[in-house]
Amino acid sequence: PDGMDLGDKRRTTGIALKLTVEIGWILSVDDYRIGVGYDIHRLVEGRPLVLGGLSVPFDKGLLGHSDGDVLLHAVTDALLGACHLLDIGDLFPDNDPQYEGIDSRLLLSEVVRKTRDAGFSLHNVDCIVHAEKPKLSEYKRKMAQSIAGLLGLEAERITVKAKTNEGVGPVGTAEAIAATVVALVVKEKKKRKKRGQAPFLPTGIAHSPRKGEEK
Ligand code: MG
Repeated sequence: PDGMDLGDKRRTTGIALKLTVEIGWILSVDDYRIGVGYDIHRLVEGRPLVLGGLSVPFDKGLLGHSDGDVLLHAVTDALLGACHLLDIGDLFPDNDPQYEGIDSRLLLSEVVRKTRDAGFSLHNVDCIVHAEKPKLSEYKRKMAQSIAGLLGLEAERITVKAKTNEGVGPVGTAEAIAATVVALVVKEKKKRKKRGQAPFLPTGIAHSPRKGEEK
C-alpha cells in the first residue's frame, strides 16, 4: 500500500509468508491410503469352513492351499494394496509347501507386521462376505472382533457385512464363497526405525521408474 517504506513492505510480506506456511501446516491432511482386496474359494465337502479366523459350522468348507479363509485373504490383500506392498500371492505362493494348510491368521499377522515396518498405521477395514450358504448373520460381529484382534484395532473400526448373491452365479448356487474388503491406512509422518530387517520391497521391482517417469 501507499505510504509504506521498503522495510514495511518487506516485514508485511514476511508476516504473510509465515502465516501461509503455518496455516498450510495446520491444515495439512494426513496421508491416508486406501486398498481393496477380493478373493473367492470353492466350497467342497470334507473341509472345515473357516471365515475371518473363525470356525463356522457347515457341511462344507473352502478349498485352498491354506485353510481357505477367503475373508482373511481379502483383508490381507486390501492392507497390502493400501501400503503398496505387492500382493498375497507374491508373499505366500500357493505352490510353496510351507504354506500348505496354513492358518490364514498367521499370514495376516505377518502382513500387519510388514505394514508397520513400512511406516503405516491401520485406520479401518470394511468387509463384505458373499455367501448364499451358510447364513452368516449371527457370525458377523464375531468375525469383526476376530479381525480386529488380528489387526490390533478396536472392534468398531472393523465392519463385516454378509450378502447372498440372489441365487445367481457360483456364489448364488453355493459353489463358492467370496469376499470384498476395503482398508484405509495412514502413512506415519515419521517412519519407524527398521528393526534390523532387510527392506521388504525388493529394490528394482516396485520402485524403479519407467522411462519418462524419472523425477
Ligand atoms: Mg485365497
